[in-house]
Amino acid sequence: MDCPVDRNLGGVVNMWTGVGRIGRSRRHGRRLVLAAVLLAGAVAAACDPPAIPDPGRTVGALGGPPSQVALTFDDGPNPQWTPQVLDILDRYGVSGTFFVTGEQVARHPDLARAIVQRGHSIANHTWNHPTLTRISGRAMVDQLAGTSNVIRDTTGYIVSYARPPYGSTNAGVNNTIASLGMRPALWSVDTRDWSRPGVGAIVRSALSARPDSVVLFHDGGGDRSQTVAALPAIIEGFRARGMDLTRVCDSRPGVGPR
Ligand SMILES: [Zn+2]
Repeated sequence: MDCPVDRNLGGVVNMWTGVGRIGRSRRHGRRLVLAAVLLAGAVAAACDPPAIPDPGRTVGALGGPPSQVALTFDDGPNPQWTPQVLDILDRYGVSGTFFVTGEQVARHPDLARAIVQRGHSIANHTWNHPTLTRISGRAMVDQLAGTSNVIRDTTGYIVSYARPPYGSTNAGVNNTIASLGMRPALWSVDTRDWSRPGVGAIVRSALSARPDSVVLFHDGGGDRSQTVAALPAIIEGFRARGMDLTRVCDSRPGVGPR
C-alpha cells in the first residue's frame, strides 16, 4: 500500500527537546528515575534519545544534538525491498527505524527479526494500514495492540512508538496509542517516495531536511526501487552536511504493553 499524505502535518510536529539528556533538569531526572524503575530487569536497546514514558506526546522531530536526522521506513517488512534497505544501511553503518505493519511481520517474521538483529528500531504501523480516524475505538485497539503483540512475539522487542497510517491522527488516536504504552510518531519530511517521483527528487527532498528532522521513506507497499536507489546519495549527502543519522525509536525488551 502506498502512503499518500492526506493533510499537512506541520501543526503537529513538535520538537523533542532534551529528553535524552541525563540530568538536564530535576523534572527530567525524576522521569529518568521512573524510566529506570520501569526498565528494571530489562535491557534497554541503545537508542538516542532514550525512550522515557511520556504517553500522548507526538514526536515529529528529534531533540539532542542539533546534527541528528532519523531515517524512517514504513509499510514493511517486504521481502524484496527491506533486505536491500538493510544492506545499504549496514554498508554505511547507519541505523534506521522501521514502522512495520503487523500483517507484514506475520508474513515475514525473519525480516522483522533481521531489522532488530541488525541494530535498527522497529515500531508499530498498525496491522493492515487503515485510516485510524475512520475506524472504531475497538478496531483501533485491535490494529495497534495486535501489531505490538506480533512484533513482541516475533522479535522479543516491545515497541515504543506507533505511526498512524497516512499521518491521519486526532486526540482519540493519540490517546489510544498512549493507552497502549506507546508514543505517536510522525515525521518532519515526507520524501513522497511512495509516489515514485524519481531518484533525484527523493534525494533532493530528503536532503532538504533540517537538523532534528525525521525523514519518511517506504520499504514496502509497492515498488521501492527508487527509494533503494536514492538511499546511498541521501546518506552520503547528510554526512557531507555533518548530520548524524540515528533512530527515532527505542524498542526495548521486557517492558510495555502486553
Ligand atoms: Zn504507511
